Amino acid sequence: MSETIQTLLSESRTFAPTSQFTAHANLKDPSIYAHALADVNGYWENWAKELDWFEPWHTVCEWNLPDAKWFVGGKLNACYNCVDRHVEKGNGAKIAIVWEGEPGDTLSLTYSELQDRVAQAANALKSLGVGKGDTVCIYLPMVPELAISMLACARIGAVHSVVFGGFSSESLHERINDAGCKIVITADGGWRRGSIVALKKAVDDALEMGTPTITNVLVLERAGDPGRMQENSTVRDYNRGTWKAGRDVWWHELVSAQSKDCPCEPMDSEDLLYILYTSGSTGKPKGIMHTTGGYLTGCYATSKWVFDLKEDDLYWCTADCGWVTGHSYVVYGPLANHATVLMYEGAPDTPDKDRFWRIIEKHQVTILYTAPTAIRAFMKWGTEYPERCNLTSLRLLGSVGEPINPEAWMWYHEHIGHEKCPIVDTWWQTETGAMMITPLPGITKTKPGSATHPFPGIQAVVLNDAGQEITPDYVPGTTYGEAKGGYLAIKGTWPSMLRGIYGDPERYKNTYWSRFPGYYFPGDGTKLDEDGYFWLLGRVDDIMLVAGHNISTMEVESALVDHPAVAEAAVIGKTHELKGQAISAFVIIRGGYLESTGVSAEKLVNELKDHVASKIGPIARPDDVILSGDLPKTRSGKIMRRLLRDVAEGRALGDTTTLADPAVVASLKDRYESQEG
Ligand code: ATP
Ligand code: MG
Repeated sequence: MSETIQTLLSESRTFAPTSQFTAHANLKDPSIYAHALADVNGYWENWAKELDWFEPWHTVCEWNLPDAKWFVGGKLNACYNCVDRHVEKGNGAKIAIVWEGEPGDTLSLTYSELQDRVAQAANALKSLGVGKGDTVCIYLPMVPELAISMLACARIGAVHSVVFGGFSSESLHERINDAGCKIVITADGGWRRGSIVALKKAVDDALEMGTPTITNVLVLERAGDPGRMQENSTVRDYNRGTWKAGRDVWWHELVSAQSKDCPCEPMDSEDLLYILYTSGSTGKPKGIMHTTGGYLTGCYATSKWVFDLKEDDLYWCTADCGWVTGHSYVVYGPLANHATVLMYEGAPDTPDKDRFWRIIEKHQVTILYTAPTAIRAFMKWGTEYPERCNLTSLRLLGSVGEPINPEAWMWYHEHIGHEKCPIVDTWWQTETGAMMITPLPGITKTKPGSATHPFPGIQAVVLNDAGQEITPDYVPGTTYGEAKGGYLAIKGTWPSMLRGIYGDPERYKNTYWSRFPGYYFPGDGTKLDEDGYFWLLGRVDDIMLVAGHNISTMEVESALVDHPAVAEAAVIGKTHELKGQAISAFVIIRGGYLESTGVSAEKLVNELKDHVASKIGPIARPDDVILSGDLPKTRSGKIMRRLLRDVAEGRALGDTTTLADPAVVASLKDRYESQEG
């Protein structure tokens, strides 16, 4: 990139925490930022001491860039910290997991019950020959057994590799072989939008393609379980796929027969806890490795302070455990904090578009953590759905996964939080393991669209093109004179940092440590405003170069979403003879807008171009605005701009294997080409 990233959009609304929220907050003293910075290792060491260790560490941190070790020499077990220690302290009667299936069936497990089930699952794994250091592939719907399987692996020192249940057999095959998994845990199916996702069949197909390391498939009966749905033998036979005796084992036959006694294996702090493949927004997924002590410390600390978790909270993170958010903030972080966690199996629009709000009302959810892609879908569907339900139990809202456009933030604030819930917009990645840039709800005055400040103990900086820091470390109350755009980078190490890419140390160095020597480079651009707030601008590969100006796609998208007609927008730079790149915008219109206003599509397109020019400046005026029914997204709901660039430039489409629905991009391509032609 030839110049520093420009920042064009400005947002001046601010929201201070209420005095009532602050009064009860887990953290209310802003001096924590300076304290943490003054002694980063000592600060993290204090967090680690809140976990239970079998043996203490001798060294807090060994850092030889790019290799970090935390709590060196210490021994602990992640499952013990999430489950057993609570039971041993006499707190086993509290509900650990409240689960709701898509058909409406429910299950609650106390910490004591969870301990029994995890121990039985762990013994079942052992009976299949799985031991310390073996890798287990988990390919399950969002059922309690997913969390139980992860914890069972952690209990015996096996490494888990969770593959999202929406991935195809090809993707599963690739991930099983990359990680060299020994067994697969799956289900005969899971519910999604009223139908059964045939997971076991996908496993059969993946194994058919050749998976030399796999010895067994452990199959949970979910779709055909008469206890959870009506008996239907044809469906049952279909869902269990091609049953291979000797290889395939039913969960209910093997697991229920096991003893509830299974000791937690003492693990080295640096022993591998799991491998997880990134979403694949930018290309081939990377097998990110996380180890035990540092990772758990990061998840525990951020859950406690960012979600402000309390004993009586009912906490709901809507992410699937197939993503890092489900690892850190459905399982490890909240359970290590003795929280009650809600898990939901299905889609947000089944049986109707109010499903999330019904769940919140029914279970009295107090904390909701979801993604901008979901919030924008809710905006598109309209306010009538949340208005049907009583959402007064909510006290805190969170967002993760993509930058949240200020208007989506405001919608979340008004229609879900009823203007009384702080919003924590948390920036982090699979690689960082835990939240890195985030408000602290009892302290931070938020600004819609800004992830605000680095979590205490995290040293985030902004670099210019030459790799120089253009900003000092964050100190609350500092003013920086003017807003500056650049590259987000992290100085030093942090406990939950990835320990590498599985099987590819070179890619690890090249991807994260070579662009700016001496820093971790996450790949994202950011703006730092005059008050020291970080505004994540999306991936630097997505940033456009228009007539010599580096313009963030995110800012143009936010200007579009600011228009009342727009629910969602994706912006890309398309090659242009004179300008270098010209801006193309793909826009989804809010339900009923054209009908209710009587505006023609053609008129709206011009209005939208003018709107962007007036919000940001004439330089950002899009050349094309394409009204679209849908946008290409990864299975975790992130917009895949590289494919839109392929469409706009008439190229063959790049890798589409991580797309949620490949038909979307194919139909956009047709539409785009017919409009062009
Ligand atoms: P891949 O690395 O395979 O291309 P991915 O980056 O989409 O996939 P994740 O680790 O799930 O995989 O996503 C992390 C990325 O998501 C971040 O680098 C950032 O671009 C974006 N992101 C996450 N949370 C936020 C947030 N609160 N604000 C802005 N961007 C965010
Ligand atoms: Mg990434």
